[in-house]
Amino acid sequence: VDEDLCFECGVCARSIPCTVNAFIPSEDSYQRKVKAFFSNPYTKHALTSVPGRGTEEVKTNDVTGRVKRGTIGYCIEFGRPVPGCRFSDIAEVASALIGLGARFERNNPLTHLMDERTGAFPDDLMNVRILSAILEGGCTAGHMVPIIQAADEIAARRNVTLSIGIITRFDGPDGQGVVSSLADRGIQVINSKGNFGLGKPRVTQAL
Ligand code: SF4
Repeated sequence: VDEDLCFECGVCARSIPCTVNAFIPSEDSYQRKVKAFFSNPYTKHALTSVPGRGTEEVKTNDVTGRVKRGTIGYCIEFGRPVPGCRFSDIAEVASALIGLGARFERNNPLTHLMDERTGAFPDDLMNVRILSAILEGGCTAGHMVPIIQAADEIAARRNVTLSIGIITRFDGPDGQGVVSSLADRGIQVINSKGNFGLGKPRVTQAL
């Protein structure tokens, strides 16, 4: 196995055992453990206690109140479904987002690894390849489109696959102007997830 290309996703170990024991685990390292956290859905992030990519994102917004009225949330998924990415790809997008005034979600494992002043990750992680991670946070409505454009440009140049999610409150059909603002710039909303406020306990602060 090429250890650079291997994601530490664990599929080979969970599959039918190799009858000739061809898979031999190599020595554990910090980098391999980090790889597994962002590639193996059976691991759980120690800081957030959330399996998979380590964040509940906006699925529990009725309980967490991450995205409130008057703010726009973003989540940028790197690497899915299978091409993967390197931390340096995420760092370049994060750095551009800092320049656009974006904030990063505290309860997200990438934020804990990142230098929030520069978007960089520790030097010994920058070239590490992982299956998928979500850069997540908030911004003003005016910064939403520039953030999408910056992420798109960097992804195209670095040949990285991104899925970009925009999160907003829907008190009317336009979601704080998000849908029409995206349409004006030729960005089509092709699918969505809805949070209907059924979670308990509801967040107490005003949403
Ligand atoms: S990428 Fe996943 S399936 Fe492939 S060798 Fe690495 S751990 Fe096994």
